[in-house]
Amino acid sequence: MSGFFSERLNGLCPYVPGEQPKRGEYIKLNTNENPYYPSRYAADGIDGVFLRGLRLYSDPDCEELRGAIAEYYGVPSRCVMPTNGSDEALAFCFAAFGDRGAVFPDVTYGFYKVFAELFGVPYTELPLRADFTVDMDGYLNVGRAVVLANPNAQTGIYLSLDDIERIVASNADNVVIIDEAYIDFGGQSAVGLTRKYNNLVVVQTFSKSRSLAGARVGFAIADEELIADLQRIRFSFNPYNVNRVSAAVAVGAIRDRRYFAECIDKIKSTRARLVGELGRLGYAVLPSLANFVLAKSPKINGKKLYETLKASGILVRHFSDARINGFVRITVGTDEQTDALIKALEIAENTL
Ligand SMILES: *Cc1c(COP(=O)(O)O)cnc(C)c1O
Repeated sequence: MSGFFSERLNGLCPYVPGEQPKRGEYIKLNTNENPYYPSRYAADGIDGVFLRGLRLYSDPDCEELRGAIAEYYGVPSRCVMPTNGSDEALAFCFAAFGDRGAVFPDVTYGFYKVFAELFGVPYTELPLRADFTVDMDGYLNVGRAVVLANPNAQTGIYLSLDDIERIVASNADNVVIIDEAYIDFGGQSAVGLTRKYNNLVVVQTFSKSRSLAGARVGFAIADEELIADLQRIRFSFNPYNVNRVSAAVAVGAIRDRRYFAECIDKIKSTRARLVGELGRLGYAVLPSLANFVLAKSPKINGKKLYETLKASGILVRHFSDARINGFVRITVGTDEQTDALIKALEIAENTL
């Protein structure tokens, strides 16, 4: 450390991203990317004229992408704010609405804690129940901001829209942030509730269901006054947060509903197969509506399993957090990748 670093941030523990190997030597099932290519229309608008336009800053209002997202969800454009990945939308939420503190589950997306520390937001981690479901009682009438991933990160477990509405309705005096990074893989989005409640922010991403993790595009949808608050933070940080290339690619992707539906269907059916095969091998698997499953071997500990799979060319994710360190998190890939994974697991179970 330099000795110049902010004293206030002395205790900051940064987020640790999953491995991104430099060469494609692994079957990569560790960071919940989509195994299928982005929409073939994604690059439609990117020609020579477009590239010459890169000398100009991107549109600070991000109007075209905003409109495309608004149209997809049937909400007014002024209720949508595109961001540089949904991580940025989440960060802006902590900055804008964190004054009275925040609550989120003890097992969830690791970035919430990091954002809370970065922006000086006091936080409480509410333990999930023993079966890793969200204990609803802890999220009613909280008096502080509520942050929930739905489906939840690391577990894949989904809360019904009715449960989400109960949480939002009971917290009229504070903001509820629902991170829907995985909602397209089987859950029902809470976006519609943003028309009814003025304290709900729904955050989504193009990284998972739309195969654009590398483009870094996410967005928030909320009541227009909440969006105005978030815009205030954005314009105090980086008004050009979504670059021209990424905005154009995202517009192409969100308009291609047919290809989107095809990819989602494939991932859902591969997920069902993966869960079935893991069950056959005696694994404990949490019920997931996301594009990953958290699974525990009947005899190999989580870290060892991660290492064994890595040695055989397959990357999955292992978390050292006490509650889930017996598990590995496996992204749902293609059927071929899943076959290779199952084969590697069979070998591991029979030899270790
Ligand atoms: C992947 C993920 C994100 C971040 O997505 P980006 O849009 O790529 O920044 C946010 N929340 C959860 C729960 C995620 O799993």
